[in-house]
Amino acid sequence: MITVRTISQLRSSVDHSKVVGFVPTMGNLHAGHLDLISRAKQHSGCVVSSIFVNRLQFAPHEDFDSYPRTFIEDSKKLEAAGCDVLFAPREEDLYPVPQGFQVSPPEELADILEGEFRPGFFKGVCTVVLKLFNCVHPNRVYFGRKDYQQAMIIDHMISQMALPIEMVKVPTRREVDGLAMSSRNGYLSDPERAEAVQLYLTLCQMRESFKEGKSVALIEQEAMQHLQARGWKTDYLTIRSALDLTALDQSTAHNATHLPDKNNTVSFVALGAARIGKTRLIDNLEF
Ligand code: AMP
Repeated sequence: MITVRTISQLRSSVDHSKVVGFVPTMGNLHAGHLDLISRAKQHSGCVVSSIFVNRLQFAPHEDFDSYPRTFIEDSKKLEAAGCDVLFAPREEDLYPVPQGFQVSPPEELADILEGEFRPGFFKGVCTVVLKLFNCVHPNRVYFGRKDYQQAMIIDHMISQMALPIEMVKVPTRREVDGLAMSSRNGYLSDPERAEAVQLYLTLCQMRESFKEGKSVALIEQEAMQHLQARGWKTDYLTIRSALDLTALDQSTAHNATHLPDKNNTVSFVALGAARIGKTRLIDNLEF
């Protein structure tokens, strides 16, 4: 594996005679990230990954400074997983001048759910992702379904900007008890870690209640109350259209247009974001 810091070193290291697969990350890698590398490895002759904690997507009160930075371990894991080129720019390499040009994603996708509670987050994400795409020139890119709304927005950006890139969305890797793997799980104390799986279990319960025909409004209310009673601070727990994240009003929730089609493709997604102690976790479940 070649490790490079600058855009020009990167450009001379990526082998464009092969299919280039790209996995952007913020580091502190776990098995979920490595699933993305394995998928890229299956389909690409040259696998590129990046590690960059992107200041643009953090609000001033968020965890940019304390975000776990574990470069040496990450680099060993990437090499073992078969990554060919690791791009790990310093801030001054990626943003040598203030990044005045930014990508504004459409509000109907980016100002809801995560975007409502983290204003500007997806603008920061789209800006860095488009810039990384311009540096790497990948044929395929790999994103996790764990960040469901993020993957959807990047997919739309690729399509609306006519980028010659294929998006691959990789299933969420979970711990044995069901907790979605996340770099932020490392912030949890032992009791918080034991409690953290409740977010996933609540999403599972929402899915079951939906299948039993309960109204979406009631399901969402009960889910919030369940977590709040256990000491969580909930941002949202909701069931949306898996296609475009629009809300399901009660009259359309169970009608045929939203039911899984013959090919058994998913129609709905339960999404949740909630805080246990100081740690904010997100998860989702498609059905
Ligand atoms: P991050 O380093 O958190 O920005 O994540 C980098 C990429 O890994 C994103 O595409 C995430 O969606 C993906 N990812 C993070 N956690 C998981 C997980 N548990 N399973 C699958 N993909 C994940």
